[in-house]
Amino acid sequence: MQDQLLQEWVERVSLQFFGLPFRHRATFNGRLKSTGGRYFTKSHNIEISPHQLRNFGEEETEKIIKHELCHYHLHIMKRGYNHRDEDFKRLLAQVGGTRFCKALPAGEKRKPEPYRFKLLCKSCGTEYLRKRKTDPRRYACGKCRGQLLLYKLDFISKT
Ligand SMILES: [Zn+2]
Ligand SMILES: [Zn+2]
Repeated sequence: MQDQLLQEWVERVSLQFFGLPFRHRATFNGRLKSTGGRYFTKSHNIEISPHQLRNFGEEETEKIIKHELCHYHLHIMKRGYNHRDEDFKRLLAQVGGTRFCKALPAGEKRKPEPYRFKLLCKSCGTEYLRKRKTDPRRYACGKCRGQLLLYKLDFISKT
């Protein structure tokens, strides 16, 4: 299915179930795998996972569209548009949307995973930063082939 058809679909669902027009963009995003859809508070646009459509069909996808439209309309009406908000829960139940998806707060980008560990070479002191816990016995220093030690890095703030 193409974006243009999705756009028309979302506009139709919006009018039919919310009685309000959808005035922004709805597009497919093939990178959405763990979530069925996303609503962007900054642009007001909606993204839907094409995998969802392929795996679960139009009925389930329409539930996701409804879910995203709950975020959309409540956000535009300046009401509680987050999953935990009563407004959201009520509207979602009313239109029969699915509970699952991910809303991204304004302008939020996925942050890169921080380095939590470092491997330190016992011989030459070279440090290697690691994001995941690593077994130092499985590696050797890239410079001198020396033995490595694992340290956990401390973080002052995790923003
Ligand atoms: Zn959501
Ligand atoms: Zn070394």
